[in-house]
Amino acid sequence: MKVLVVGGGGREHALCWKLAQSPLLTKLWCAPGNAGIGTVAECVAIGAEDVAGLVAFAQANTVDLVVVGPEGPLCLGLADRLSEAGIKVFGPSQAAAELEGSKGFMKDIVWKAGIPTAWYGRFTDIDKAKAFVREKGAPIVVKTDGLAAGKGVVVAMTLDEALGAIDDMMGTKVFGDAGNELVIEEYLDGEEASFFALCDGKTALGLVAAQDHKRVGDGDTGPNTGGMGAYSPAPVVTPEREALVMETCILPAIRTMAAEGKPYTGVLFAGLMFTKNGPRLLEFNVRFGDPECQVLMARLKSDLLPVLLAAAEGRLDQVSLEWRDQCALVVVMAAAGYPGSYQKNTVIGGLDQAGAVDGVTVLHAGTAFNDQGQVVATGGRVLGVTAIGDTVKQARERAYKAVDALDWQQGFCRRDIAWRALARDGA
Ligand code: ATP
Repeated sequence: MKVLVVGGGGREHALCWKLAQSPLLTKLWCAPGNAGIGTVAECVAIGAEDVAGLVAFAQANTVDLVVVGPEGPLCLGLADRLSEAGIKVFGPSQAAAELEGSKGFMKDIVWKAGIPTAWYGRFTDIDKAKAFVREKGAPIVVKTDGLAAGKGVVVAMTLDEALGAIDDMMGTKVFGDAGNELVIEEYLDGEEASFFALCDGKTALGLVAAQDHKRVGDGDTGPNTGGMGAYSPAPVVTPEREALVMETCILPAIRTMAAEGKPYTGVLFAGLMFTKNGPRLLEFNVRFGDPECQVLMARLKSDLLPVLLAAAEGRLDQVSLEWRDQCALVVVMAAAGYPGSYQKNTVIGGLDQAGAVDGVTVLHAGTAFNDQGQVVATGGRVLGVTAIGDTVKQARERAYKAVDALDWQQGFCRRDIAWRALARDGA
């Protein structure tokens, strides 16, 4: 089978790394890819959001399956255009991708499906939004309806903070049109984790759970990032809780999306808060998490390709998955300064030594080759040092041993990935 993966980050390297192991694969492309992806797939210089370019490439090369990594092209209708061209695609239609593209749409679906979630209101009028927060009081959560690169959420602990967030988002429009509508919702307290499921429009196949670290600094301090590390399994999500999340969150969403005429195909990412009253759905995303995908792929024993194809063809009921009974952990190496401004094109050494550490795979997120054939950093998040181990402690030791084998003065990472899991283990 000929497969095209769309995207060029750590998530796509993890997908390509796993797909490249499939005996069914005859050719793997990745658009645009990165230096690491180039070792397992042929990188094609087409941007992930160049919908017309991607469709033309898939047609010209008679691609059998397109696997879309990021949400951007899905929200632009890449899956629809590919389907119209008769090309199989793993990823939701533009209408179904609204689950991530519009928080208001997502909340309406979740509410309609009877999924346990925070109460909420949708607002296009600034005065009504303010009246709502005054009525409900703090703590309360204010979100832009549209995508704002993970920054359009303010968890307001005071009324003033909530009113200020409304002014910023809807008055000053600091996130542009994403703030034309706001979702204001109940504050939920608990431990967060993510759960993933493959979906084929009619049914869903549960994957496993993971936990990530959004803040840039140790001890979960400093500004939010795209994610500085992750691990799986997530101890807070016991097998019983996984089953509960499938029953109460994933399957009702799939049924409701089908009933709405927007059948959901692809991976459904459920952001969950485990409160003292049980799991509550915070959000749905329409793609794998990055860096959660890296640990999921490290733990997956089964061949990924036939399962993604089954999802694309609407026959997930015919497949099953096997997982390694081990822990996986990823430490993200970022360029100094991230998530603020950072230097580009700094040379990264020691990649072979890091990759030689037992159980470690170094996945690339933002890298390229320079004229001398050296690997250089091209993004904020640059590498995902991924390790597998019998325990989370072993996986973590291996990952940090590999980090220490790297020669990249301009890079940094958090040193406490999986602290929550280790604290639970008493390790
Ligand atoms: P990202 O893409 O980074 O996950 P997002 O912009 O899609 O973010 P959400 O996931 O909805 O936004 O919220 C971001 C974070 O804000 C959550 O991971 C959670 O920590 C916090 N948060 C969101 N909603 C609530 C809530 N109702 N109660 C408490 N915290 C919340």
